[in-house]
Amino acid sequence: MTKPLTNWAGNITYTAEELHRPRSLDALAALVAKSARVRVLGSGHSFNEIADPGRDGVLLSLSALPPVVDVDTTARTVRVAGGVRYAELARRVHEHGLALHNMASLPHISVAGSVATGTHGSGVRNGSLASAVREVELITADGSTRTIGREDAGFDGAVTSLGALGVVTALTLDLEPDFEVSQYVFTELPEDGPDFETVAAAAYSVSLFTDWGRPGFRQAWLKRRTDQPQADFPWGTPATEAMHPVPGMPAGNCTRQFGVPGPWHERLPHFRAEFTPSSGSELQSEYLLPRPYAADALRALGAIRGSVAPLLQICEVRTVAADRQWLSPAHGRDTVALHFTWVDDTEAVLPVVGRVEAVLEPFDPRPHWGKVFTVPPDALRGRYPRLDDFRELARTTDPAGKFANAFVSDFLHPLS
Ligand SMILES: Cc1cc2nc3c(=O)[nH]c(=O)nc-3n(C[C@H](O)[C@H](O)[C@H](O)COP(=O)(O)OP(=O)(O)OC[C@H]3O[C@@H](n4cnc5c(N)ncnc54)[C@H](O)[C@@H]3O)c2cc1C
Repeated sequence: MTKPLTNWAGNITYTAEELHRPRSLDALAALVAKSARVRVLGSGHSFNEIADPGRDGVLLSLSALPPVVDVDTTARTVRVAGGVRYAELARRVHEHGLALHNMASLPHISVAGSVATGTHGSGVRNGSLASAVREVELITADGSTRTIGREDAGFDGAVTSLGALGVVTALTLDLEPDFEVSQYVFTELPEDGPDFETVAAAAYSVSLFTDWGRPGFRQAWLKRRTDQPQADFPWGTPATEAMHPVPGMPAGNCTRQFGVPGPWHERLPHFRAEFTPSSGSELQSEYLLPRPYAADALRALGAIRGSVAPLLQICEVRTVAADRQWLSPAHGRDTVALHFTWVDDTEAVLPVVGRVEAVLEPFDPRPHWGKVFTVPPDALRGRYPRLDDFRELARTTDPAGKFANAFVSDFLHPLS
């Protein structure tokens, strides 16, 4: 018997019987055209059923297609194939003296799968990873190809699309000149620190970590561009040894610290491509809310620390600049992202996820599309002001709903 196909975390077993790996774009197009229901699996780092096509559907991977990474140094863009991961993309872009504006905490994830769920790093001026995309190439339901660029109608729905429009075979991204980053870790940051806005803007990218066991933060990670002025950080104590954000995990899995300057792609992620990211045995949830609510939302979470802490490995607080993608959790609002790395125990974690959601509810939170959440679809729908535009785009691009699995349909289509 073949081993069941699961996501990276192992909490989701895909119900599709087989993973198809077409070796050419023609074979991919033919497979899509003849199938009734299709979903693409990226690198499988989502924690819910978003990629699952359902029992009768076709699950396909683009990992056997040519891993195209074409850098245009004059236009400062890169065209990257749908199956390529950030680690490979970043290495190739860096070789050309160019850079992406930001990266997530790990480079192991596929570019197409990441932008489909609104994946982000941190930084008050850094949009989600999708905000770098300028063109999307799709294979649509009948097997034909379609390119949607930034100037085209519907582009604002085409990148963070939850995989509901078609198979993304390539993306073209904006690049900028290469830059270096120095990463500093501070520890034991008392509750009465500077205000949130000051802290969040203290470096190009700032992440705060707490275990919610007691007030204050356990660590702050500051990623400073060496070509920008350095703001003071009068909070906490500079770490005296290399750190991992998850207690008990080896710091060797993490990117270089102590302010040693290095290329952007070896500092912006927390975790190194050659090692297991995060703890490796976990569930994750994340809620993105308007940044002005940060302090109040953190205070509200503090009131349930007794429920959260026992099931938590670590909580990370980041910021994301507003973007235009209709289904992006950072759509139209400068955002604070409250992330929870839970223990790997769905039954125990889900009730606490519900409590976190209840406490955050007044702050208009949008859950990360790729993580564990229990917010019902009708509540979610109200949090996306351009949902109708996305529905219309999905209806015209995929009239029969070939790419709409249960996860997507629950959200897009009210039952009434
Ligand atoms: C350890 C860890 C750390 C993480 N850190 C971060 C972080 O720092 N910031 C953050 O925002 N998130 C983070 N995440 C979440 C992660 O970035 C998202 O779940 C992301 O979607 C994973 O990309 P993937 O390629 O694995 O996508 P998958 O889970 O494989 O797929 C996600 C969605 O994209 C669709 N899709 C994938 N490829 C294509 C394609 N070619 N065409 C059409 N649809 C496609 C799938 O059908 C599915 O709907 C983390 C996850 C893990 C496990």
